[in-house]
Amino acid sequence: RPPAPRPRATRVFVVANQKGGVGKTTSTVNIAAGLSSLGQRVLVIDLDPQGNASTALNVEHRRGVPSTYDALVDGVVLDDVITACPDLKNLWVVPATIDLAGAEIELVSVVAREGRLRKAIHGHPWVGDAESAGEERFDYVLIDCPPSLGLLTLNALVAGEEMLIPIQAEYYALEGLGQLLETVDMVRAHLNPTLAVSTILLTMYDARTRLAAGVAEEVREHFGDQVLRTAIPRSVRVSEAPSYAQTVMTYDPGSPGALSYLEAAREIASRGVSL
Ligand code: ADP
Ligand code: MG
Repeated sequence: RPPAPRPRATRVFVVANQKGGVGKTTSTVNIAAGLSSLGQRVLVIDLDPQGNASTALNVEHRRGVPSTYDALVDGVVLDDVITACPDLKNLWVVPATIDLAGAEIELVSVVAREGRLRKAIHGHPWVGDAESAGEERFDYVLIDCPPSLGLLTLNALVAGEEMLIPIQAEYYALEGLGQLLETVDMVRAHLNPTLAVSTILLTMYDARTRLAAGVAEEVREHFGDQVLRTAIPRSVRVSEAPSYAQTVMTYDPGSPGALSYLEAAREIASRGVSL
């Protein structure tokens, strides 16, 4: 597998869509696995109290494990809550425990509450460019957001430079997207002026239905080049993988789901270089 060129500096991606079940977590862990297999150094930050990304990456996330909560609420440095993924090279994880469910409320009274994650990420010695962070730098940080537009997602939007929005190719796909984009505009205007919706990924695409094709066409019309050429097919192997604490990239590397995620990762890596 030919390695992809490394970006000049760490690219921080926010994987967000306030709709649940559209493939945020699945896309986060599989693109992370794909990027790492292309020789990129990747950090996944699990920002969903459900901890599904932690599960898929085989990282412990029971109560008491150092986690995103500690970094966000108690200001613990990121390095102290990072775990190496036991199965995949070049991949690190900040797990989410159920404590994170309380963070949304606990953060309300905290100073600079929406900038906590940004501070944690940018305080890590492996985040930056070749000069500041050296060869050990992370090439990608992927933040897996919960299905809401509360303080957790807001923290991610302030922390990131790029957004990856997974869109499920089904009838209600575009519903709610307006609200997400309004939130992005608000964040841009007040908190993070350079946040860009760089990447849209069509997920659970069923090429046999006209409905999916129609939705895909509509999404491409609306978002143009932001939409990755690769769409992720609906595939039972993709949904089985997490129950074995695996990504589909290791569970069934030759399956259409795995190959599509690898291709999507390749696209993301190659676009970044020309950005
Ligand atoms: P979100 O994080 O947005 O809530 P998930 O990534 O957890 O969404 O996906 C929701 C459900 O759909 C999960 O059960 C997941 O396994 C399943 N799923 C995601 N992508 C696919 C796919 N390409 N094919 C089949 N099932 C999928
Ligand atoms: Mg999720």
